[in-house]
Amino acid sequence: MKIYDISLTISPDLPVWPGDPSVELKQVTFIPKGDSCNISHVAMSVHTGTHVDAPYHFLNDGETVETLPLEALVGPAYVIQIHDAVDRLTAEVLAQAEIPADAERILFKTRNSAIWGSERTFQKGFVAIAADGAEWLVKRNLRLIGMDYLSVAPFGDATDTHQTLLRRGIVLLEGVDLSEVQPGRYELYCLPLKLSKSDGAPARVVLIG
Ligand SMILES: [Zn+2]
Repeated sequence: MKIYDISLTISPDLPVWPGDPSVELKQVTFIPKGDSCNISHVAMSVHTGTHVDAPYHFLNDGETVETLPLEALVGPAYVIQIHDAVDRLTAEVLAQAEIPADAERILFKTRNSAIWGSERTFQKGFVAIAADGAEWLVKRNLRLIGMDYLSVAPFGDATDTHQTLLRRGIVLLEGVDLSEVQPGRYELYCLPLKLSKSDGAPARVVLIG
């Protein structure tokens, strides 16, 4: 049994979505300066690094992040390998992806996972779920879908994919790094911060398998 940490490390040089505030993480009290302890201050978008989207992110009457059911966030999950040549998870690509029939939680490992080790700037050309792919996915019994870049949806075309999936109450886990993880079945532990009335929250996420 091994524990795989698939969370990104949050630091000021972590790429963020264009237009989102960059990460501010700085120490504000210092023991060497005579303070009794070290304390850091953090400010960032809730969609920073590894995070979940709540329905409210794209649906104004949707649930907020602190209400997401833990039963969706924790449990068996499959890492599904997507070939490096694939740009979009369309219905056609997904039909051939060999997603197990009993899967409730799936994480797509695409060529995106290799970005995290090499690129410190935002990459617009990331692999994402097409609108017709989202329509295909909601016909399955899924509770959580994970993607290995900062959005489930293509850059510049976010609304349809997000709304289709969030309307079904599927938790969207974005910004996981699956570069060290082989395809297969694991136990997923995805625990987003319990932020009141928020459209999303950063999460520490591990796979055990
Ligand atoms: Zn998000």
